[in-house]
Parts: sequence; C-alpha cells; structure tokens
Amino acid sequence: MADRTLGIYIHIPFCASRCAYCDFCSTADRRDLIPAYQQALIQHLREAAPLAEGYLVDTVYFGGGTPTWYGAERLAELFGEIKERYKVLTDGEVTFEANPDSVTEKGLKALRKAGFNRISLGAQSANDGILRELGRRHDWAQVVSAVDLAWKTGFENISLDLIYGLPGQSREDWADTLRKAMELQPKHISCYGLKVEEGTPLWSRREDPDLPDEDTQADLYLYAVDTLAAAGYVQYEISNFAKSGCASRHNLKYWMGEEYLGFGASAASWLGGKRFTVLPDAEGYIAAIGSGGELMSELEEISLYEQASEYVMLRMRTARGMDPKEYETRYQNSFEPLEKLMESYVRLGLAQRVGDRWRFTPRGFLLSNRLIGELLDAQAEQKYHMGIPWRKEDYYDTLF
Ligand code: SF4
Repeated sequence: MADRTLGIYIHIPFCASRCAYCDFCSTADRRDLIPAYQQALIQHLREAAPLAEGYLVDTVYFGGGTPTWYGAERLAELFGEIKERYKVLTDGEVTFEANPDSVTEKGLKALRKAGFNRISLGAQSANDGILRELGRRHDWAQVVSAVDLAWKTGFENISLDLIYGLPGQSREDWADTLRKAMELQPKHISCYGLKVEEGTPLWSRREDPDLPDEDTQADLYLYAVDTLAAAGYVQYEISNFAKSGCASRHNLKYWMGEEYLGFGASAASWLGGKRFTVLPDAEGYIAAIGSGGELMSELEEISLYEQASEYVMLRMRTARGMDPKEYETRYQNSFEPLEKLMESYVRLGLAQRVGDRWRFTPRGFLLSNRLIGELLDAQAEQKYHMGIPWRKEDYYDTLF
C-alpha cells in the first residue's frame, strides 16, 4: 500500500556564468551538453521509477545551477515525466530555483501551468555594487521585477536567498537588504553566511580586510534572526525563516531524515537505509546513463549508529531539535550523554528545552559546528568506551 512519502530532487548543473563565491556543481562552459543532459534525466527518471513504488511523492525540487536558465520548457517536460512515472500528490510542493536575470513572464506562466507552485529566487543582496563584485548577473531592480512577475503569474509561495558577510558589507547595508527583501513579502527567506571556498575566484581574496570577520558575521546573523522574527518570519532551521506554514517541505525532508531520490549530476538519495550519490559531473552522468555504466560515486548502507549521528547533526540544525524518546526508540540507545551536554548548553544560553525536545538558541546555532562535534564525541564515547553495544548486530559483530 502506498503510504510512505518521498521527495524528488533534480539537479540542473548549468549556469549562464559563474559567481565569484560559487563551489556548487555547475558549469557555465558546457551549454552544448544540455540536450543530452535532458535526455539522460528523462531516461534516469524512467529507469528509477520502480524504486519509488509504494511511495507518494509530496515534494519535487529543481535545484542547481540555474534551472530557469536551463529553460522553463525543459523543466516542464521533466516534471511531466515525473507526474507520469511517479505518484505525485496533487497538493505536493513543487519548487524551482531561479535567478532574477533568467526569469521571464512566458517561462513563469509555463511553469505555473505545468504545476510548479514554489519559486526560490537567488537575490543575495540589495547592494548593486556588491552584486557586481560577486559576479551576479542582475541588480536589485531585477529582483523586484522577478518577484512582481512571480506574483503576477500565480506564484504565492516565493522564497528569497540572501547572503551576509559579503565583501565590504556593513551592518547598515545588510539591514537595508533585509528591509528591501521583506518589502517584497516573500513567504520564505534563507540567509546564508558567505563561505570563501578554496578553488573559487573569491578564495584569492580570503585575507582581504574588506571581508567581515567571524564576529561581524555573527553580529549580522543575530541581527537577521531578530529582524525577521519581528516581521513574523519563524526560524525553523539555522539559515531558514518562513511565515507560518511556509517552511520548505522539501528541505525539511533532509533535516528530518525522510526519504528522497535525487536525479542528475551530484544528486544524492536516501532510500531504504541506503545513501547513494550520482557522479559529480554532467558529462560523466550523461555517459553513464547512455552506456548503462556505473552511475554512482558513492553507495553505502548506513548503520544504525551512523543514522543516530546523522540525527544529531541534522536535527540540531533545526528549531525542532532532538526528541529523546524518538531518539531512544529509533536508535535503541540512551539519550542520557546527549542530555547532559544539552543541559550544560542551556546554562550557557546556547540551547533550550522546549517541551520534551532540545534545540539550540540562535547563539547556539552560531556555534553549532563545535557543539554538534561535542555531541557526536559523546555518542562515540558511549559506543566505544562504555562497553555498551550500540545494537544487537554490533554486539554479535564483536563475537564472530
Ligand atoms: S547562479 Fe548559483 S549555481 Fe550558478 S554560478 Fe552563481 S551561485 Fe553558482
């Protein structure tokens, strides 16, 4: 009986040009691959359909890359294929990522007609000088027109991506970006701290005094949390804020450990206790689909202990946090060592207990990498040094 739900993710690794900070899986030089990539995605969707038997698809997400630059017609064709081969719920959330410079009224109308109902727009900053410096192909006026067009063509569920900690960005500048973004009344706002990744053009400027230091980034983050809360945007994850009922259902699947299937270069899947990840480049993906060759770069069965670690890592990114009863039932082990640590974080103002659950405060989110590391250490300690078998199979493993 079909009663489990599934998310579908489609990766579109093509962009019009590369932004200075980008280390995502995307290319701006291989436009020639697009027709073959589309055919490979269609074939992949057909071949993988049996894996989704017994599942109801309640979220579909087209990410990238720049799906709108790839083309609305191609996206509509892919979604048509999904609807034909998978059981997609009529009230499912169907999202596409977009950049303001590749949004057109015709394209949006076609996507709305095809059944897409959520747009995630890369706005990043309201400062045109900063946008230019980042290599973005749009200015703020184009963000405003893209949002207007989205409203006009029937998209009510609009999300804006913003970045803080940008080169030369002051607190006033960030406040201005947040204010202008909220004026557009999106249902959802994501705020990401700039990370200067090795291999990106921005990396050569990593020592630049123009780049806000850690304290400034923290200040900008906490400012966003307060400002968005005052405007009715509820923080439901470290970087994500939404009006009531408008949290991203698809992204929540990742953080809640729910199942999803990924298609396209670098896309990951989590299904039936297994994690698999597709080859990271478009050309390799096309060749593997065409030849029936090895498509996955990783395929692993995740042990219960690893699942418990992922629960800690993913749940502590969210405002929902960890539920001790859920943890103990799922992973057959005591929550006590984690609880002790969480109590110490509460005393430091880094965490709070909400009903039965434990979560970080915004200050805790800021330190989450370190704090989650400590929680994982406590888990490992429990597994390896206290003589407690994590589960029966682990115990028997030690005997044979
Ligand atoms: S549009 Fe997005 S995916 Fe494309 S280069 Fe810029 S940041 Fe990267």
